[in-house]
Amino acid sequence: MYKLTELEPGTYVYALTEMESADDDGYQLPPHWVCAACYPKRRSVLRKIDDAWVCQPPGKCAAPIHTSQYPQYAE
Ligand SMILES: [Zn+2]
Repeated sequence: MYKLTELEPGTYVYALTEMESADDDGYQLPPHWVCAACYPKRRSVLRKIDDAWVCQPPGKCAAPIHTSQYPQYAE
C-alpha cells in the first residue's frame, strides 16, 4: 500500500508504507516512491538520475522531481 506524500510544496509522490513493505516470503521491500501521475494506472518506481527523481520512461508523465529528500516509509 502506498500513501500520497507531499515532498515539496505542490510536489507529490506515493510512498510505500512500512506496514505493507514485507511480502509473503518475509522479504522486505526498501522504501521507495512511485509516480503520482502514473499511480492510477501502474506502479512506476521513481529513479534518481543525476539530481532529479524521474518516472520511467522519463519525461512522459510528469516533470522531474527535485528534492533533497530520500525515500522513507510512509507512516
Ligand atoms: Zn509517471
